[in-house]
Amino acid sequence: MPAWEMNVRKVIPYTPGEQPDRAGIIKLNTNENPYPPAPGVARVLQGMDAGKLRKYPDPAAGELVSALSERYQMPKEQIFVGVGSDDVLAMSFLTFFNGDKPILFPDITYSFYDVWAGLFQIPYECQPLDGEFEIVTKDYLKPCGGIVIPNPNAPTGAEKDLQELERIIAANSDVIVIIDEAYIDFGGESAVRLVSQYDNLLVVQTFSKSRSLAGMRIGYAFGNEKLIKYLNDAKYSFNSYTMNTVTIAMGVEAVRDEAYFQETVGKVVATREWTKGELHRLGFVFQDSKSNFIFASHPKCQAKKLFEALKERGIYVRYFAKPRIDNYLRISIGTDEEMKALVAFLDKYIGENLWLN
Ligand code: PMP
Repeated sequence: MPAWEMNVRKVIPYTPGEQPDRAGIIKLNTNENPYPPAPGVARVLQGMDAGKLRKYPDPAAGELVSALSERYQMPKEQIFVGVGSDDVLAMSFLTFFNGDKPILFPDITYSFYDVWAGLFQIPYECQPLDGEFEIVTKDYLKPCGGIVIPNPNAPTGAEKDLQELERIIAANSDVIVIIDEAYIDFGGESAVRLVSQYDNLLVVQTFSKSRSLAGMRIGYAFGNEKLIKYLNDAKYSFNSYTMNTVTIAMGVEAVRDEAYFQETVGKVVATREWTKGELHRLGFVFQDSKSNFIFASHPKCQAKKLFEALKERGIYVRYFAKPRIDNYLRISIGTDEEMKALVAFLDKYIGENLWLN
């Protein structure tokens, strides 16, 4: 190893899902929304005056913060925005987790948490989900450096009861508790209303799923004024202009079109419920998902083989070769037609392969 390499910050990076770009594939592997963003977003794109890009964007993304403030009835001083919730979460780890005690998060969860902990050299301790893949409240009622819990959890899709989360937040008033609500709009109960009661609570959400804007990268967080000030201080010490002009304008359009938001979320939820019924019929087992994906296992069919067979047919789902979850597939909810094609394939595959595995 050359001497300089001793001083390199070595990290094991996050592995995002594949982004194949071939025509005709059915992409159910990265929890994207199958519907386009609100019509106003396309209008921003079409009407964009490239001359506007000459100037730096508003570093505070004021218009977007105002739109969010109106939609969520939250004072502007209590809103932080960033380049996807990944950026918001990373900035939060950097800002809030500077103690000596380990931070806590589930062992089966969003696989970026341990990556950020590694990057920022934050000690952490994973708390195992129980046999039913549920988060165990009492595991989070102990001294620690902070807590991160996604609700609904990923990749299980299961919702944790808000009263239980409140117990965790209340019992940890000496540290910051982050609730990652990337999937909350698909049926979960949000912790946003607890923000006014708990000054240690940060609720993080995203435009990537329910607002169909994964490609634009918009995330945000709600917390008390002091938390948001600390987050902004860290952000302005890193990069003042994290959100670009076009993204800010598109985000405003997306958040203001409440009717379109309700309509598309409603469609995804209806398709999810139909898919649950079909997967049950085929013998899959899974938790009751409140997200835009289903994390399913088949007692008589190996997930890895099924994953490969699906891919061969051009249907992409997500497979994690990790302990405890290596016989599961995470299936994002697509359009009705996409889910029908998936179910038709599974019907045939399972009929033919059940006894071969
Ligand atoms: N949190 C969870 C639980 C997620 O699954 C994702 C999506 N990969 C994110 C945060 C980040 O989403 P984004 O950066 O697109 O807002």
